[in-house]
Amino acid sequence: MRIETKCLHEGYQPGNGEPRALPIYQSTTYTYDSTEHIGQLFDLTAEGHMYSRISNPTVAAVEEKIAALEGGIGALCTTSGQAATLISILNIMGAGDHFISASTIYGGTINLFAVTLKKLGIECTFVDPEASEEEIQKEFKINTKAVFGETIANPAISVLDIQKFAKIAHQNNVPLIIDNTFATPVLCRPIEFGADIVIHSTTKYMDGHAVQVGGVIIDSGNFDWTSGKFKEFTEPDLSYHGVVYTEQFEKAAYITKARVQLMRDLGAYPSANAAFLLNLGLETLAVRMERHCSNANQVAAYLNKQEEIEFVNYPTLEDNQYHERSKKYLPLGCSGVVSFSIKGGRERAVKFMDNLKLASKVVHVADIRTCVLHPASSTHRQLTDSQLIAAGITPGLIRISVGLENIDDIIEDIEQALANK
Ligand SMILES: *Cc1c(COP(=O)(O)O)cnc(C)c1O
Repeated sequence: MRIETKCLHEGYQPGNGEPRALPIYQSTTYTYDSTEHIGQLFDLTAEGHMYSRISNPTVAAVEEKIAALEGGIGALCTTSGQAATLISILNIMGAGDHFISASTIYGGTINLFAVTLKKLGIECTFVDPEASEEEIQKEFKINTKAVFGETIANPAISVLDIQKFAKIAHQNNVPLIIDNTFATPVLCRPIEFGADIVIHSTTKYMDGHAVQVGGVIIDSGNFDWTSGKFKEFTEPDLSYHGVVYTEQFEKAAYITKARVQLMRDLGAYPSANAAFLLNLGLETLAVRMERHCSNANQVAAYLNKQEEIEFVNYPTLEDNQYHERSKKYLPLGCSGVVSFSIKGGRERAVKFMDNLKLASKVVHVADIRTCVLHPASSTHRQLTDSQLIAAGITPGLIRISVGLENIDDIIEDIEQALANK
């Protein structure tokens, strides 16, 4: 199946006389005929649902669909993108461990890495993603356990050289984790470029309609956890009566451990209803991404011609730093998210935003409706000036998430907001 078809048909194939749409299994628990069968479920020797903190049939169908879209062997849905990021890291690391992340990442992820994980004893070194392989290599330590980056960074709209990051990670026997939220598997499948683990905030394009916060972790099944660096995978898990994940689950060691150990303990599993809504979004994802990209192309080209605009960040623009790289990683388009800096700094940016009539001012992105945000006064408010610059943000930077409205209406709105000084 091609990606458009997978969006519609993966994960749930009803049998004769069964509901055409994915059913919402609104049940916390599952019944079995014998105590022995339940025992086997606890031993992880039989497949089946036990309790909806760990798995649920509606959520499972969506997990299967997303794994198929990304080309992974399994997926685990979470209650938010933040929970997905946290679990993807905690599944590999504990106090005393270290990892390396590109500095151009989502503001919430920077807080998680720089403050909260640090409190838990996990240390992160941020690197300039454009630094040479040698420079990044210098940041590796004995206790480095992973490398992290975003396909299209929010809000700098920079494109990560995923293959370079994968090469550096693998030379050091550690996995590469990629946040693929903005690109979605329709535009880029990081596993094809060497990523080992992919995560998403499904709150964004996957849901697409601004109705449900969620996240997901996808396991490529490609990473070898048996090098000796990852003892939690190769030694008995005492919290699970001695299971050795790489022995019992082989290629699915990572995603199984994330579910049966961390999801069991942390309990950030989405409800069946949340998964149902996410599935509705996923069904139209491929079609929506096509239109988001073509509308954003036109908005970027329009902004690029305006006197009052300092610069526009959108990789399909000829003069963009990531133009060539985007052809390789994002051949179908670069999502609906464009950022640009308006001359006159913070004040003028705020005035422009307030002038917009069609585009909504929301703390959200990747929605079917066009929306705008001023990162310096909202999502990235907690960052210091130097962290702002490292994340590619200027005081006048505006992020516009181009929606599915008629392109002429979107551009007319921008036009009148620029004209009204
Ligand atoms: C929004 C976002 C997150 C966090 O996801 P939530 O669903 O809001 O918790 C992580 N990464 C990126 C790139 C995001 O845009």
